[in-house]
Amino acid sequence: MNLEWSKLPFGYVKTDYNVRSYYKNGQWSDIEISDSEYFPIHIAATALHYGQQAFEGLKAYCGKDNKVRLFRWKDNAERLQHSAKGLHMPEVPIELFYKAIIKAVELNKKYIPPYGTGATLYIRPLLIGTGAEVGVKPASEYMFIVFVTPVGPYFKEGFKPVKIAIVRDSDRAAPLGTGTFKVGGNYAASLRGIVKVHKAGYSSPMYLDAKEKKYIDEIGAANFFGIKNNTYITPYSTSILDSITNRSLMKLAEFMGMKVEKRPLPLDEIETFEEVGACGTAAIITPISEIIDLDTGKKYHFCKDGKPGPISTKLYNTLVGIQHGEIEDIFNWTEVIL
Ligand SMILES: *Cc1c(COP(=O)(O)O)cnc(C)c1O
Repeated sequence: MNLEWSKLPFGYVKTDYNVRSYYKNGQWSDIEISDSEYFPIHIAATALHYGQQAFEGLKAYCGKDNKVRLFRWKDNAERLQHSAKGLHMPEVPIELFYKAIIKAVELNKKYIPPYGTGATLYIRPLLIGTGAEVGVKPASEYMFIVFVTPVGPYFKEGFKPVKIAIVRDSDRAAPLGTGTFKVGGNYAASLRGIVKVHKAGYSSPMYLDAKEKKYIDEIGAANFFGIKNNTYITPYSTSILDSITNRSLMKLAEFMGMKVEKRPLPLDEIETFEEVGACGTAAIITPISEIIDLDTGKKYHFCKDGKPGPISTKLYNTLVGIQHGEIEDIFNWTEVIL
């Protein structure tokens, strides 16, 4: 492939094929391969009107040994099932999920960015209600589609601290809403916050709990973590998307001899942290150097020397090393697929 791997944006690049399966009469079809980036859809499909859809995001990593690895794909498959249940959609069987992602990667092998470019092959499974309904009820037909696209690093500057801003005049998810499901509706709801903080010169919004605005929920579409007194602390809340990256960092922190806490995390506690960051598949860890409260103008500063903290750096290097097959995968998180 003649792509300039190291200059790739974190965006969509056309690949050759995608993989599809259809749910009809209570059954999933075998996978089909398509070379089209489009599909026809009924004008009354529930995905279009009532947001009946869910998605996943994972990556295929090319290692120094030239092998291609998936990272904890089964967690993504199970999370898609959790999201499907949450929106009354049929679950995609784990085997179907696996077959579809493997096929999509294999068919687009030439788009897998080489080791050392900072780029990876992003895999996007999508589940949508395609059946026509006008009343609000679950569709009777669905489509599961997997496409892949080579992506550059989420932040061009690489592993460098960013500034974020607390948003109080919009929420991405309600306490008993759809926050734990990976669904487009939450992203649509988050756009107001994202656009607002971008205009103010910040990279991501920090969402507080919707009910009391007292506890930290998420950072844009990433989980939050803070480090102090040799402890890794991440918020517990009923409106947070359970990040697989965060799960992995918790394990690594524990393995490194740190304490790990998952609990409601009051915003007031923020000043006591030595390091804070956001985590997710896209950027793995995004260290945070400044948090501004847009309502009061109050600022919290971290990374005093402008560099990511030592623990965040160690966690980042370890996880990225495991994903690329450079560090021993003692937790059996990766699977060589090519
Ligand atoms: C996908 C997502 C994350 C990150 O989850 P990972 O499994 O680590 O990629 C965090 N928050 C939200 C809202 C998400 O949609």
